[in-house]
Amino acid sequence: MKLSKLASEIAESPTFALNEEARLLRERGEAVINLGIGEPKNRTPISAVLASAAKLTSGEIKYTPPDGLPSMKRAVIRYTEENYDRLVAPENVIITNGAKQSLFNIFYSILNPHDEVIVIAPYWVSYTEMIKMCLGIPVVVTPEDGTFTPRFEDIERAVTSSTRAIIVNSPNNPSGAIYPPELVEKIVNMCEKKSIFMICDDIYHKLTFDKNKAVPAYQFTTHDIESSHVIAVNGVAKLYGMTGFRIGWVVAPRELVRVMTNVLAQTTSCVSPLAQAAAEGALNGLQSIVEALRLQIQNNRDVVLQEMKTFNGARLIPPAGTFYALPDLRAFNSNSVEVSRFLLKKAMVVTVPGKEFGMEGHIRISFAGSVKDVTEGIARIKWALDPTSPNEIYIGDKKMVRDWL
Ligand code: PMP
Repeated sequence: MKLSKLASEIAESPTFALNEEARLLRERGEAVINLGIGEPKNRTPISAVLASAAKLTSGEIKYTPPDGLPSMKRAVIRYTEENYDRLVAPENVIITNGAKQSLFNIFYSILNPHDEVIVIAPYWVSYTEMIKMCLGIPVVVTPEDGTFTPRFEDIERAVTSSTRAIIVNSPNNPSGAIYPPELVEKIVNMCEKKSIFMICDDIYHKLTFDKNKAVPAYQFTTHDIESSHVIAVNGVAKLYGMTGFRIGWVVAPRELVRVMTNVLAQTTSCVSPLAQAAAEGALNGLQSIVEALRLQIQNNRDVVLQEMKTFNGARLIPPAGTFYALPDLRAFNSNSVEVSRFLLKKAMVVTVPGKEFGMEGHIRISFAGSVKDVTEGIARIKWALDPTSPNEIYIGDKKMVRDWL
């Protein structure tokens, strides 16, 4: 069968593939623990359920304007004012099918063939594939010092005359790192000076722990929204644990929003009004839900840190935000795909190989689930990898015998 060369070369989403594998194992009755996907276990906020239900019972479920319902845009404008201290117009906002579509449409709208986008490792798996789908070239900058925070000089050195954008995701998936304000400020200044788009993937910006805060890039620009190259991407998936509603949004100069609106109108027409009503309900409802979710996730993070203390050989930089940890397991095996496969087979725990995020030798552990799963999952990983652990354990009613990786 003759298919598109470009499309055929796009890699499978490893998190969705592993999620499916875990589901099939569970269906077979295996006691598998999924520390793969980043999805909080909370129920949909009631204000979102009620708003969406009201829309549904109205029976008026039609196309919406391609850039989003005016009322949903108003909710985003308020959110932007409250959280970014920026007053924007409806023409600066577009509502999309998840933050994923926001990012794809941005790349599609700003890139010409062979344009470059700087991506900081470790990075979210989809960035590089999306850039390639839009005929761009991902240029990866990797911190050389074993941390997850890049040096500004290395970013600056990666800039060429073909650089169109840099994507900054802080708090970061998969490491949980938050970039220091001085670094964010330097990137903003560089981008504004060189007319490079700084795409801020802020999807985890409220999921920060202890005293850590993610400082918004907007804070450092003196440009107004129309002349600034700073773009903010956000959504309800992580903020309210509303992953299935598929709502994201972009705040950007109106010229870019206009082009993105045409792209969206010609591809998916608009976002379902039911999902938009739900997101609007969440944004206009009680915000204590966000703090409750943050506290629960922070508690899970503390459990991870506690469990990792007794994990000889594993090195972990404590996550300052998100619900991911990225331990370095090179002491056991530097091939992360082999480690992840081994952990699934021996310990029935789903993890994601660091290779997928441009960080070989590490594995990503999601602690978005229950404390029980996180505790038991890490205990099993320790058992499978630590040479001093007992030879046999029971997982469910199945006896597992240790062997070497
Ligand atoms: N950016 C990052 C860094 C993410 O981790 C995710 C989801 N895993 C997204 C964007 C996409 O979010 P959404 O579910 O809203 O498409």
